[in-house]
Amino acid sequence: MKPLLEVADLRKYFPLRGGLLGRAVGQVHAVDGVSFSLDRGETLSLVGESGCGKSTVGRAVLRLIAPSSGTVHLDGARIDTMPSAQLRPLRRRMQVVFQDPFSSLSPRMRVRDILAEPIRNFGLAKGAALEARLAALLEQVRLPRDALDRFPHEFSGGQRQRIGIARALAPEPDLIVCDEAVSALDVSVKAQVVNLLAELQDTLGLALLFISHDLAIVEHLTHRVAVMYLGKLVEVADRRTLFATPRHPYTRALLSAVPVPDPTIRRERVILAGDVPSPIHPPPGCRFHTRCPLAFDRCRQEEPVLRAITPTQSAACHLDS
Ligand code: SF4
Repeated sequence: MKPLLEVADLRKYFPLRGGLLGRAVGQVHAVDGVSFSLDRGETLSLVGESGCGKSTVGRAVLRLIAPSSGTVHLDGARIDTMPSAQLRPLRRRMQVVFQDPFSSLSPRMRVRDILAEPIRNFGLAKGAALEARLAALLEQVRLPRDALDRFPHEFSGGQRQRIGIARALAPEPDLIVCDEAVSALDVSVKAQVVNLLAELQDTLGLALLFISHDLAIVEHLTHRVAVMYLGKLVEVADRRTLFATPRHPYTRALLSAVPVPDPTIRRERVILAGDVPSPIHPPPGCRFHTRCPLAFDRCRQEEPVLRAITPTQSAACHLDS
């Protein structure tokens, strides 16, 4: 069966303007040739440090921004160049949960209206059917029925994120992009919301593109992980393989910071030197060579390509070629 989402060689360059006339003086290479697919009912986590381009990938997938090049297919239909009118019915099928539930929910709308808006916009239900749908949504995200008549500011951060999830579920999507959806929440609330997302994904058969800077968060939720560095994917693997035998030195560094619940297991911490280089002038060769503890001459000259090491694991590193 065809994947629900197929992203091929996606690039997004933002112009850098300068001078009195605001002329383009360079480009920010936010996303630079990213390819992946996502099946129905699958969770793929896109992880990497802040500024690596992962949220830009999410926005391009949702057509909130236009990619510079590459293709995005949803259920076989190419959506990156599709005219807006034609895209509208497909928008129902892909929804988003943002990081900050407070700013993403209108403070002047009651929860009833926040949830009803996408249902009405797509003509999915009205009258008694709409009321039943609203009640079902609240039940799905474990909020009380009286939440419908309250405003977002009357809820805690975790509850507001549940409202954000209910709004994403309202038009019965196939795909939800969760863009740092739990990053702003307290640790205990974070775990509850991650569990809720995992449960909804499973019961509703949703595909989730879960964008996070935190590998620890995705471990209990995801089927596969794609690790991103400076606009490129450096490793893609199923969860079990990635957490047990990471191949790319960057993945190993990220993973070394993830706490292990078993005190008998010690993970050697890899501290990366320096900051992520500028995406305006990415380093030649392997983009990670300026921070990689294993870099050698070839890494500074030749860019490694993402290649399959096993059927379930790919990495972009000269040590694997
Ligand atoms: Fe490190 Fe070289 Fe591999 Fe890049 S290609 S991750 S610099 S060893």
